Amino acid sequence: EKVLMNNSLINRDEASFSFDDRSMYFGDGVYEVIRVYSGYPYKLEMHLQRLQRSAEELDITYSNSQKQSLKSAIQELLSENELVEDGFVYIQVSRGAAVRDHLYERNIEPISFAFTKEMAIPEQTQDEGAVVYLSEDIRWLRCDIKTVNLLGNIMAKRQAADHDCEEAILHRGETVTEGSSSNIFIVKDGHLQTHPADNLILNGITRRVVIDFAEEQGLSVNYTPFTIDEALEADEAFITSTINEVTPIREWRGTRHGTTNIGPITKQLQNMMREDIAKTRNG
Ligand code: PMP
Repeated sequence: EKVLMNNSLINRDEASFSFDDRSMYFGDGVYEVIRVYSGYPYKLEMHLQRLQRSAEELDITYSNSQKQSLKSAIQELLSENELVEDGFVYIQVSRGAAVRDHLYERNIEPISFAFTKEMAIPEQTQDEGAVVYLSEDIRWLRCDIKTVNLLGNIMAKRQAADHDCEEAILHRGETVTEGSSSNIFIVKDGHLQTHPADNLILNGITRRVVIDFAEEQGLSVNYTPFTIDEALEADEAFITSTINEVTPIREWRGTRHGTTNIGPITKQLQNMMREDIAKTRNG
């Protein structure tokens, strides 16, 4: 099993990290998770562009040429690891290593690494729907940056799991923002609604892909934030993410309780995504 360290392939058991890595002290780094279908990465370029944007927003130097060499290194990693089934690639870019100090210097070299893992598509949850846990969004105000600083997300995820829920749906006051590792859409009277891609959510790649599918179908998408009550009263609701694709929400717990039927628009978008993924599988 190989991994990437600064875009070079090395054996996993030979990979090591600096004691002074800032992503360890401060969560000072960015990351991406990219789906792999039958060995082929899905929407690789979009993920790498978002990685670069996340880095830039944090004043981490990440050039186009670093991005390009990462892209080919990922292809090498996938073939080297003979990942021919479904799985994912994880990439992390740390600001770099320096003796612990809140103040970062701009001359330190970023450190990147990546690994692959096999992972089946969670088809059962996609078919039966997920139970979600509504909880207060306690994160910072730059949720548009995909940083490894994920305490607000992971605490909510644990809380959801403790209530036998698959995902936490976060809300700032009454306004629903996104899931702890997904975006959320609702459907009302045939119209889709999702939080605008501002500083309060991560602009998910799957979110963007699903919006494209919806527009192809002539479905309108409203980017007005919606409330918890509106979510509970919606005709349909679903979450989107790289790992879970399009997954309907069937039950809500936490801040409020309720149930939602799995509906035709969710199913249609789910199928469109599956068809698009099938194209990736064929190379
Ligand atoms: N929001 C958050 C907070 C996430 O962690 C994720 C998963 N990366 C998403 C949304 C969904 O993004 P994507 O579709 O790019 O996986």
